[in-house]
Amino acid sequence: ALTAGIVGLPNVGKSTLFNAITQAGAESANYPFCTIDPNVGIVEVPDERLQKLTELVKPKKTVPTAFEFTDIAGIVKGASKGEGLGNQFLSHIRQVDAICHVVRCFSDDNITHVSGKVDPISDIETINLELILADLETVTKRIQRVEKMARQKDKEAMAELEVLTKLRDGFEEEQPARAVSFSKEEEKIVKGLHLLTAKQVLYVANVGEDELLDTEDNEYVQLVREFASKDEAEVIVVSAKVESEIAELDGEEKAMFLEELGIKESGLDQLIKATYTLLGLATYFTAGEQEVRAWTFKKGIKAPQAAGIIHTDFEKGFIRAETVSYDDLLDAGSMQVAREKGKVRLEGKEYIVQDGDVMHFRFNV
Ligand code: GDP
Repeated sequence: ALTAGIVGLPNVGKSTLFNAITQAGAESANYPFCTIDPNVGIVEVPDERLQKLTELVKPKKTVPTAFEFTDIAGIVKGASKGEGLGNQFLSHIRQVDAICHVVRCFSDDNITHVSGKVDPISDIETINLELILADLETVTKRIQRVEKMARQKDKEAMAELEVLTKLRDGFEEEQPARAVSFSKEEEKIVKGLHLLTAKQVLYVANVGEDELLDTEDNEYVQLVREFASKDEAEVIVVSAKVESEIAELDGEEKAMFLEELGIKESGLDQLIKATYTLLGLATYFTAGEQEVRAWTFKKGIKAPQAAGIIHTDFEKGFIRAETVSYDDLLDAGSMQVAREKGKVRLEGKEYIVQDGDVMHFRFNV
């Protein structure tokens, strides 16, 4: 399963946020595909469409979809033997599919800041530089291997060398790999290098509990926003402390608490949604009398693979998928009417599944 890693300097609020994630977290029993590991938090994806489908179909049970966050600091603390902390940190980032970079934007004299003062940009740069240097090393080593072959006019080596050189030039100017532009062909080469700075990132600005409402007044948040827009990255503002309080509440209490605070959606819910998109994930639904359920898929996959997410037999014996878009189904008001209106399509093996598809798979057993 795809996972997003939570990273950041010490004392910025990572553990507080991660605790909120596990507190609010989903029962892993519902999600047999998810990892059981104290450093992995399973979160349910908030999705209004699931609620609407439930009202329409009135099933016995409704199951949201879920995905995973990995607490990288937690893993690094837990494994202190062998290589240095730095290398462990990097090797764990290598294993995640996207990065949630937590930045301290709250002032609290009681909580020491590692570099003595709150300075979100310098914090971000400290970590980003670490990642860039690691990638620079990867690329430099690779250049040494490919150069010889490129000199002998090996076509593939020449193409790779060009990519590597572009990357190295970027790194030397402290540009992450994701900021360098490549052609489709070149992108494939970049992918094969498994670079840390090629991963998508979003910044989580952790503000004080009393600053949630007017984050525009928080100059630290402004600085993070400016920085992130250069990195074409999203910024999610949370108060980790508040989130850990919200996480202890159930549905109705949570809604009341949010109303009291004057916010529509908890920071954690925003973070979950943004991370889901960052990972390139989307949702399709199954909607039967027994169960209405959301399923996570990686954008771009075809119908049989989507069926395989439910069960491998569905993929092996795939015949076709009865498919209606969420909007069409909601418009029609029932599956029956959607069918009469010709909105229910029969899709085959080559169909590329779309976010919001409501699907019913036909398969051979
Ligand atoms: P980590 O080292 O990044 O995992 O940071 P922690 O989550 O352990 O937080 C470090 C300290 O900052 C703890 O004492 C937290 O209670 C405190 N902290 C975290 N978030 C907030 C916040 O939003 N406001 C305030 N005042 N303190 C916070």
